Amino acid sequence: MEAQLTLTGTPVVPGIAYAKTAWVQGVPEPPETAPDVPESERETAQEQFVAAADAVAQRLTTRAASMVGTASDILAVSAGFARDKGWRKEVNKRIAGGTPPVQSVTQATQLFADIFSAQGGLMEERVTDLLDMRNRVVAELEGHPEPSIPTPDEPIILLADDLAPADTAGLDPELILGIITRLGGPTSHTSIICRQLSIPCIVAARDLEAVSDGKLLIMDGDSGEYSVDPDREQAEALAHEDALRRQRAREWQGPAETLDGYPVELLANIQDRASALRAEQTEATGIGLFRTELSFLNTPVEPSLEDQSALYRSVFSSFPGGKIVVRTLDAGSDKPVAFASVPNEENPALGVRGLRTSGVDEGLLLRQIDALVSASADHDGPNWIMAPMVSTIAEARWFCGMIRERGLKAGIMIEVPATAIMIDQFMEEVDFVSIGTNDLTQYVMAADRTNANLATYTDNWQPAVLTLINLIAQSGIAHGKPVGVCGEAAADPNLAAVLIGMGVTSLSMASGAISYVGSRLSEVTLEQCQQAAEAVLQAPDPITARQVASAALGTHA
Ligand code: PEP
Ligand code: MG
Repeated sequence: MEAQLTLTGTPVVPGIAYAKTAWVQGVPEPPETAPDVPESERETAQEQFVAAADAVAQRLTTRAASMVGTASDILAVSAGFARDKGWRKEVNKRIAGGTPPVQSVTQATQLFADIFSAQGGLMEERVTDLLDMRNRVVAELEGHPEPSIPTPDEPIILLADDLAPADTAGLDPELILGIITRLGGPTSHTSIICRQLSIPCIVAARDLEAVSDGKLLIMDGDSGEYSVDPDREQAEALAHEDALRRQRAREWQGPAETLDGYPVELLANIQDRASALRAEQTEATGIGLFRTELSFLNTPVEPSLEDQSALYRSVFSSFPGGKIVVRTLDAGSDKPVAFASVPNEENPALGVRGLRTSGVDEGLLLRQIDALVSASADHDGPNWIMAPMVSTIAEARWFCGMIRERGLKAGIMIEVPATAIMIDQFMEEVDFVSIGTNDLTQYVMAADRTNANLATYTDNWQPAVLTLINLIAQSGIAHGKPVGVCGEAAADPNLAAVLIGMGVTSLSMASGAISYVGSRLSEVTLEQCQQAAEAVLQAPDPITARQVASAALGTHA
């Protein structure tokens, strides 16, 4: 690889790292075939398999217990894979037919991996977790040590084809300064855990193979760029500047406001009680997006009204007196919920998802609203309810009418270009709107948000997307109605400043991003934010948009 050649992947966790590279060695695939197990030994072979799966499940459970938050949840799910009755049955069936345990495990796991892949989206991204569990069980059966990432003696940037959750969860951010993977997507577990640990991360770096072990490399988790053997002085200066930025974020304490005291409402994106508790530890003043469907991804049947109310109540209790914005079920597409999704759609991202599921089963939405109203009665802060994937005025009128009748504030998410384009008419129907920039970008750019090959299209800095956001913000100002942003765009510190400059009234993001956005806003004036907003609207592409925004906002105070 030539010196200073700059390569790109999909940026996932912002931050600059400069260190030597170290590749994670993949686990060799076990041979596809092996001699049959004699009939007299098959029962013993089944026992060996069960013992190996039990040992792996137990180890993963113990590691889950020693961690907190998402990392712990993910390890618990991996342990669940090793205990799964359906998977064990498939393995045992093969052993009973004479296939040796290692090959039985490989074949049975592949069966499930194929099913997950066929479902696409989030399910497809769980294939890495499944294969990791398989590797551990195979290692156990073969008497090899469990696959793991070696602990380096000096800080490194870790390179891998993909990382398993069990590996990523145990990483030490003092030693692993950055991570680049060849595979994976922005919502893969590698990404989720790196976000939690604040380790700069780039995924879907297709050309990563060209980078060898032990090379000095600089990576930028904001732009997705990485280069080998950069100018040493420049790289050290950039890494140093970034270390200071992270320190400022660690030291930042609310309230969220610009340098000249313009208050900004910073809220958290959550999905269940555990993530609400994490949000409570931040400077967020409430919840700006409660993704209710994510609580039900593994729930086969619709939970009862009582169970739903109990869940919502437990989440609301994290922010007594604080604002809570709940989104009704956004089932379908990349978030399949067994009891709410229409199976086998040709094109699920353009299919029956979000509010559209009410067209198939209206009762589901009505029962969820009843549960939310009941839980809201015990919460003394503002309770706002919004619908995802609204695309017609009739939908907005119907939904908001129903919520208002029950005494709560009613809003819609702006994720569909049609809604953004007709925003003035929609504003007449709603109490507030929240822009879902992840889907809005996907639909404006006609680019699947989960497809790593399309990451340059699904960049939130795309001028077409910024133009629509500005249109919505201006409409909010004209109608005197709040306009929030709850997609990933709000978590990008400079873009957050641009959004405030456009007139967006609240920003909601993953808990890990709050201090970065808060500290960045504290360094810039409202006027700078407005100048940055004006400048990006003239930019022809995302790179220029980033550059002109940085120029208007300055590096830091
Ligand atoms: C969005 O689309 O920006 C959004 C916040 O919703 P989700 O990511 O859950 O689809
Ligand atoms: Mg969305």
